Amino acid sequence: RKITIAIDGHSSTGKSTVAKQLADYLGYIFVDSGAMYRAVTLFALRKGIISESHFDKEKLIDSLAEIQLTFKKNKEEKAEMYLNDENVEKQIRTLEVSEFVSPIATVSEVRKKLVEQQQEMGKEGGIVMDGRDIGSVVFPNAELKIFMTASPQVRAERRYKELLERGDTISFEEVLENVTERDQIDSNRRDSPLKIAEGAIVIDNSETNQEDQFHMLLQ
Ligand code: C5P
Repeated sequence: RKITIAIDGHSSTGKSTVAKQLADYLGYIFVDSGAMYRAVTLFALRKGIISESHFDKEKLIDSLAEIQLTFKKNKEEKAEMYLNDENVEKQIRTLEVSEFVSPIATVSEVRKKLVEQQQEMGKEGGIVMDGRDIGSVVFPNAELKIFMTASPQVRAERRYKELLERGDTISFEEVLENVTERDQIDSNRRDSPLKIAEGAIVIDNSETNQEDQFHMLLQ
């Protein structure tokens, strides 16, 4: 029997990495729901809907019908995010998108659209989805719910390394600030705040490596 696995938690705790590992091992579908919020954010940045000085929520809501999100697998069988048929997998991982994504994710109409699409993708089970509201809102009946956390310092270090490897020029302080600020907004928003879903197993991986964590989750 194929079950549904919901993985939520704080920013940069390695949710997507472990979700993908689990999905590959089990032969399940893997969905990184954060990529969808990031793609909407990229759209809003490009259209001038959001910037440092303003956020036109009404325009975003009116534009939602123009936003089509799909996942397509690349040659290595890894799912990549497409925004209106354009591969945006790289563009959605920049610090700029990271800085604007949490405000975008507070908009109820955005959440409604994405949650519906996520529920559709998981309606047959056999799915591992990671995000912030998967165990609480998207799949409240998931058979396995995990909530991942780690100290802000450790999380920022991991994300900083990742961004450096990709060639981004940023400071550690900027990354640390982004990680903690996103958690703050995600935890305090009115619609679907980040919280430990009922029945979720909490894992703090500040001192656990990927390999050990994967085996722990499999058990
Ligand atoms: O998972 P990732 O860090 O890529 O998610 C980016 C942002 O998207 C989060 O900080 C959060 O604001 C939003 N998000 C959300 N609900 C989800 C997934 C992501 O609000 N299910």
